[in-house]
Amino acid sequence: MRLALKFILLFVSAVVLVTAFASYFTNVQFLRNTQKQHAEIAASITPKIKSLPGEDSPQFGNNDLERIIRSARNDIPRTRWVWLGNEVPTHLQPTLTKPKPNDCGLNENLSHSISLAGENRQGTPTYFSYFPIKIGGQQGAIEISSPLASIRTQSTLNWKSSVYSVLSIGLLTIGLVMILGVRWIASPLQKLTHKMEQVGRGDFSSNLQLHSNDELGELGKAVNLMCDRLREQQRTIETETNQRIAALEQLRHADRLKTVGQLAAGFAHEVGTPLNVISGRAEMIFGTHESNRDQIEKHARAIKDESERISQIIRKLLDFARRSPVKKEQGDLREVIQRSIEMIRPLTEKKEVLIRTDLPAKKALAHFDFNQFQQVLMNLVDNAVDASQPGQTVEVILKKRTNDNRWAIQVIDHGKGIPESSRKEIFQPFFTTKDVGAGTGLGLSIVHGIVEDHDGIINCQTEVDLGTTFTIELPATEMKSPP
Ligand code: ADP
Repeated sequence: MRLALKFILLFVSAVVLVTAFASYFTNVQFLRNTQKQHAEIAASITPKIKSLPGEDSPQFGNNDLERIIRSARNDIPRTRWVWLGNEVPTHLQPTLTKPKPNDCGLNENLSHSISLAGENRQGTPTYFSYFPIKIGGQQGAIEISSPLASIRTQSTLNWKSSVYSVLSIGLLTIGLVMILGVRWIASPLQKLTHKMEQVGRGDFSSNLQLHSNDELGELGKAVNLMCDRLREQQRTIETETNQRIAALEQLRHADRLKTVGQLAAGFAHEVGTPLNVISGRAEMIFGTHESNRDQIEKHARAIKDESERISQIIRKLLDFARRSPVKKEQGDLREVIQRSIEMIRPLTEKKEVLIRTDLPAKKALAHFDFNQFQQVLMNLVDNAVDASQPGQTVEVILKKRTNDNRWAIQVIDHGKGIPESSRKEIFQPFFTTKDVGAGTGLGLSIVHGIVEDHDGIINCQTEVDLGTTFTIELPATEMKSPP
């Protein structure tokens, strides 16, 4: 309804403006016509006055002058002869009282005709015209006046009729706007607004019903078309998303199958050899005479060793499959590095490989699971020692990176390196290049999982025959200042 009110206000203002302009132009036209009429009257008598003999002229109320003036129209407009000057008797002075004659130049110096609106001696609004003529050296003028009452009446009539038309048209418009505006504008607009709110909520279902052939009807059709397209697009997106999810599921399933296959193959490979040994030795025990106890004991020891190897493989596999939950605590990374090196020292000494550490002087604080990180470091150092030749050095370096506040732990060896063909596979479970019994191929995959659980990154740089560097990045924590 606010829109309807605006329309009405606009309409009423337009009518008032047009009426005001019409009234103004009527006034101007009326004055122009009056002036023209005055000029015509003056033009008809001026030659006659000018032809009067000069010596008769100075006498006030000259008979000939009176006669000539009377011959002109003397009702409406009214024509008079007036003398201009100081000693003129009142009845021969201009009838104009307001503005004062002198103020508008009505004196003996008047040289050209003037027209103006003013008041006569009775105070009636009148339109005056003065046409100056000099007779016998004295300045006079033909005064022609028309009452202004008629123009006022006309103007009042104009305004009255305008007010009446504004009122009647306004009332009619209000009625029409109330009835038709609601039907043609308000109700379709309400439906459109409702529809747009539905679209905003992502509901493109119901169609908009606007039974009109105007612009709003067109808009309704456009909105319906837009909804149809959006519905189509929504359907396409849904179908594509479902297809994508299905494809992802398939991929995941295939990936799971691949991993299970790899695990099974790796497990079969790892366990196959010791099982062969066990069954071989068992058969040998059967074939050995019971008096040959030494031989039986030798076979039994071999069976025991191989069984232990199998259980070790199974333990590692279980470690990999269901890693125990991470128990992170703030700790010093230097400690876990030193403890891991201590644990592995017998192996390094056996292989005659030296271990050098480069650790910061202050505490290297981070949130980590001590046991799991010990496993990580022992695995990395074990691999590095394994790849090195006797007399070579394995370095373990811990440094804080200042740009992103992370710790970098590097395990560096100068051993055989990893060939290009294996680089992608070293983190895969059961990938190993070590001899049967020497490695399970689970170490690096376990390391990778633990580092990820700690929001860390592990990467490997390697060069065949030059060595390998494994780098672990781990978020650092700040030391709490004492209260
Ligand atoms: P495993 O040590 O039981 O073989 P890992 O998962 O620890 O299992 O290692 C997988 C493979 O990655 C190893 O067999 C070896 O070929 C390669 N590898 C790991 N670390 C190194 C290293 N420092 N230098 C050379 N090769 C390495």
